[in-house]
Amino acid sequence: MKQKMSHATKTKSAGGGNVLRSVVHWFDSDYGNENLAAIRAKPDKIEVMRVLPFLLLHLGCLGVFVVGWSWTAVAIAVFLYLVRMFAITGFYHRYFSHKTFHTSRLAQFIFALIGATAVQRGPLWWSYQHRHHHKHSDDEEDVHSPTLRGFWWSHIGWITSARNFPTDYSQVRDLAKFPELVFLNRFDSLVPALFAVALFTLGYFLGEFSPSLGVTSWQLLVWGFFISTTVLFHATSSINSLAHLLGKRRYETKDNSRNSLFLALITLGEGWHNNHHRYMNATRQGFYWWEIDISYYLLKALSWTGLIWNLKPVPLTAYENDHPIRTGKNLSANHSHRA
Ligand SMILES: [Zn+2]
Ligand SMILES: [Zn+2]
Repeated sequence: MKQKMSHATKTKSAGGGNVLRSVVHWFDSDYGNENLAAIRAKPDKIEVMRVLPFLLLHLGCLGVFVVGWSWTAVAIAVFLYLVRMFAITGFYHRYFSHKTFHTSRLAQFIFALIGATAVQRGPLWWSYQHRHHHKHSDDEEDVHSPTLRGFWWSHIGWITSARNFPTDYSQVRDLAKFPELVFLNRFDSLVPALFAVALFTLGYFLGEFSPSLGVTSWQLLVWGFFISTTVLFHATSSINSLAHLLGKRRYETKDNSRNSLFLALITLGEGWHNNHHRYMNATRQGFYWWEIDISYYLLKALSWTGLIWNLKPVPLTAYENDHPIRTGKNLSANHSHRA
């Protein structure tokens, strides 16, 4: 009898263990990616399972017709857009992907955490894909070239293709040595989920204790999470799509990258994409005072506090003798030459 009972308990706990393991695997983006080469060799295809999160994100925005709006909800959505855009541009891009400055382990984790709420996956996946883009920009290997694959593929389609899902850790060894960053990268749906719950909870408390603000938990979820994150996603993606299509080219780069004030304003400075493709190691992407680059101003301010240091300057050659393309005539000549 005793033996039987202990066997039953063992089976039960094994069953519980299996459920727990399945849940962990479901959240673990690295699970099932062991054969990286085989996955990367797959043909590109839009996968329904990978489209679902984006569909949910966009559908969540429609909740605005149910929950309405309040100044508090809109202000929080705008604030979260700006803070998270800075985490993406200043840290996911200019720090993790390009290492254009130095910072402490704690600061890099905090900004990785803020960036991870943006539903643009983990810092290692983002950096790996971005480094790959710079290596292959607008050639056959580029996973999001609008000139070769069209606007929609470069904007969102490529993210839903199974071959682009895993992180190639061999390309981000400098980041993979930090287990806390690897954790954020593996469990990349956990942070956005907790962030959504936190906003919902904050909305509840604001509604309970400051009813004059007119905000509810559902309203804060829709504005602070769904709307803010969706707009943030499209603005960031416009650098992969529009920044290789619209604007002017100052430098002869092997790709079709362009400079655009409009894209620079909505992305806090990433619109100077042609500058960036030519000098990707510089912290600053707007090379002149009129090339507004808010992320750079914020990074500069952070450097005064000592939180970050060793910002890499724009090389002098950027201003001197780098074959600037000055006229629209040259631009189209260059474009037709490429084609
Ligand atoms: Zn690019
Ligand atoms: Zn870059």
